[in-house]
Amino acid sequence: MNEKVRCLIIGSGPAGYTAAIYASRANLSPVLYEGMQPGGQLTTTNEVENFPGYPSGITGTEMMEDLRKQAERFGTDIRFGMATATDLSSAPYKVTIDGEKIIEADAIIISTGATAKYLGLPDEQKYAGSGVSACATCDGFFYRKMTVAVVGGGDTACEEATYLAGLASKVYLIVRKPFLRASKIMQERVLGNPKIEVLFEHETLGLTGDKVVQGANLVKRRGQSDEAQVHIDIDGFFLAIGHTPNSDIFKPWLETDEIGYIKTIPGTPRTNVPGVFASGDVTDPHYKQAITAAGTGCQAAIEAERYLSEKGL
Ligand code: NDP
Repeated sequence: MNEKVRCLIIGSGPAGYTAAIYASRANLSPVLYEGMQPGGQLTTTNEVENFPGYPSGITGTEMMEDLRKQAERFGTDIRFGMATATDLSSAPYKVTIDGEKIIEADAIIISTGATAKYLGLPDEQKYAGSGVSACATCDGFFYRKMTVAVVGGGDTACEEATYLAGLASKVYLIVRKPFLRASKIMQERVLGNPKIEVLFEHETLGLTGDKVVQGANLVKRRGQSDEAQVHIDIDGFFLAIGHTPNSDIFKPWLETDEIGYIKTIPGTPRTNVPGVFASGDVTDPHYKQAITAAGTGCQAAIEAERYLSEKGL
């Protein structure tokens, strides 16, 4: 038999946990499914320095552990499991967990976040777990005193390069444009770090190595008259080129933009389906911060409470 809940929260990043804190304090008896990466993307971040209230910073993992405890304190039912399908054609809405169990929910808060992108090179698959990673904080430890490369020119890439420079002996930052897109402070950290060499206008063609990554073949100034092939010896290859919103299972029912970010009514977490709310990175192509995710998680829970009370549910 299907289980019926009033408020189902899908995802356990800052948006999901904040929604859970507010929903449980509003007596909505929320059930939260953690998804594939409990704690969300922040658990792959090293130091969070910009979340208000932590003057000395806090690690992403600690912060998510605190948020989880806070949600549990008010009675959120936090469960391990992944939402694998949805039927939002009529209320109560149905969400399949791990391909088996079906939960019926009067209101749903989607906080499924976003996932790291890869370049799409066959070598990324070939060397997966053998030198290729999309998470410096998770895997950097394995590259102590070695040489690594990070791909990307945004804040994530700069943060990961700086983090890895604290462990590795040398870090290449492979940037396809002639400039970094990262914030000024992050750029300064990278450009002022003697262990980091920025390779502007370089793109990755492939990886080399016997079983594990030992090098990367790059092209410099592709398509220009001075185009050149470049080889670097590396032990690890880290992707930091952005993210894809985790919205596939909702796409049959919810409006998304061309990338897949769930569309909400501007200034609210309301989707095109009444009683279904979206918060955090799955709906945010612009800000993507823990604090903005937490803010929209709060909004989603308040909206869910109002929706349920208006419907008498
Ligand atoms: P961004 O989208 O900002 O940057 C992606 C980077 O990857 C760009 O430099 C882009 O190049 C490059 N890139 C994309 N596709 C490819 C490709 N196929 N080949 C080579 N390079 C590629 O993503 P981030 O993850 O860096 O940041 C996302 C958001 O999160 C931003 O708003 C950022 O400010 C924020 N953030 C904040 C942090 C903090 O404040 N501590 C830490 C991390 C992220 P190009 O420039 O050429 O498009």
